[in-house]
Amino acid sequence: MYDILIIGAGPAGLTAALYALRANKKVLILEAKSYGGQILKASKIENYPGIKLISGYDYATNLYNQVIELNGEIKYETVLRVDADKTVTTNKSTYQAKSVIIATGSDNRKLNIDGENEFVGKGVSYCATCDGNFFRNKTIAVIGGGNSAFQDAIYLSDIASKVYLIHRRDEFRADEKEQDIVSKSNNIMLITNAVINKIIGDDFVKQIEINKDGNISTLDVDGIFISIGQEPKNNVFSNIVELDKLGYIISEDGVHTKTPGIYVAGDTRQKELRQLTTAVSDGSIAATIAIREMNNNK
Ligand code: NAP
Repeated sequence: MYDILIIGAGPAGLTAALYALRANKKVLILEAKSYGGQILKASKIENYPGIKLISGYDYATNLYNQVIELNGEIKYETVLRVDADKTVTTNKSTYQAKSVIIATGSDNRKLNIDGENEFVGKGVSYCATCDGNFFRNKTIAVIGGGNSAFQDAIYLSDIASKVYLIHRRDEFRADEKEQDIVSKSNNIMLITNAVINKIIGDDFVKQIEINKDGNISTLDVDGIFISIGQEPKNNVFSNIVELDKLGYIISEDGVHTKTPGIYVAGDTRQKELRQLTTAVSDGSIAATIAIREMNNNK
């Protein structure tokens, strides 16, 4: 029997583990992919208080090591079901815990266009820092108008010979600083009011079809980086939590779900601001409250 079972080894889940382990609780973290979550994709983190500059990979690895040094236990398994009695069923086993913290973050949002799934790993990528190096001196397109897309375009402009940054509107969510760097870059070309209709290729991506202001054209590219944000994948928890219409877990106080002993932390919950700072804040609060309520019920 675990005291706290944490689902997800991103910043929220690992922070929850850190707090629970330091309180001497028996902790299991279940992770479907790899530790670190979405922050692994950030080439640079410049807005985490107290750390001037760190890569997402280094940040996640430091946090992971902190948990492992406290003898944190991580199993790479996919959670299939969680019951109200805190039985957690994965693709490999079944676990029993006194409390569960859901910290599953979110997944890459898809364009849902022809060729997208077909060319994943063959020119279509959702992670510039992971795959950028494959496109040395090539021509690529980055899709999106937020901080991720702008940062990806800036990062990739040092590797690729030409970067098209394509956005569906002519206003951007990206910060002014990023917009300024892009406007001064000599190999990033902004294409606005444009949507991608399909991705075309043979063994590898060759072209994208664009609809710009109603005019259809094709653009020769070697790769396409889709940076249009994230979406949660919480259907597996729908028996124990309430979901909003976008699929985020609803929590009135940002910690508790509708099921006693089942808590939520990080990007996967309905919230105002999804940032590294708010994810680690959620993780620390969820673990602290879970421990307090567990101790009160002794
Ligand atoms: P985001 O801010 O939600 O931006 C997503 C972008 O993709 C928007 O421009 C959106 O267009 C576009 N988009 C969404 N669905 C689309 C579709 N189906 N087709 C075409 N375009 C689509 O996502 P994000 O850039 O990943 O950022 C998420 C959060 O992380 C933000 O709060 C951001 O500030 C933060 N972040 C911070 C840093 C950092 O270093 N501080 C780095 C990266 C991200 P519309 O604008 O038209 O909706």
